Amino acid sequence: MPVSGLPPYDENNIFARILRKEIPSKTVYEDEWALAFHDIAPQAPVHVLVIPKGKYCSFADFSAAASPEEIAGFIRAVGKVAHDLGLEAPGYRLLFNMGTHGGQEVPHLHVHLFGGRSLGRMIPDR
Ligand code: 5GP
Repeated sequence: MPVSGLPPYDENNIFARILRKEIPSKTVYEDEWALAFHDIAPQAPVHVLVIPKGKYCSFADFSAAASPEEIAGFIRAVGKVAHDLGLEAPGYRLLFNMGTHGGQEVPHLHVHLFGGRSLGRMIPDR
């Protein structure tokens, strides 16, 4: 069950369609719990999105409603992708955008994985 107060999950959001293979994506990693694919408009030399396979929009929703297996599977996938892309030594950044203030455009939980260059300050100046 979704967390109360959140809108219902939009079955036709772009990441739901990518999960259903209705639209293509460049897959980096996939398992039972998560899918990782290259962002269509990369903001860094490495820009990968990792999404849980379950129907979750927000971190609050995911953390409250997902099973321990789903949560572990998603987190493990993020770590594996970062490792397999060779980003542990040089470093990288993980970013979740949530809601309007967070600038979230796609209402399916996702984490951005940025790497391949020095990434500067955490939050850019206005
Ligand atoms: P948000 O702003 O919601 O955190 O990030 C959504 C991300 O999804 C953006 O970085 C955007 O470039 C990416 N994106 C949007 N549509 C597509 C798509 O069809 N394919 C892929 N691979 N990425 C997409």
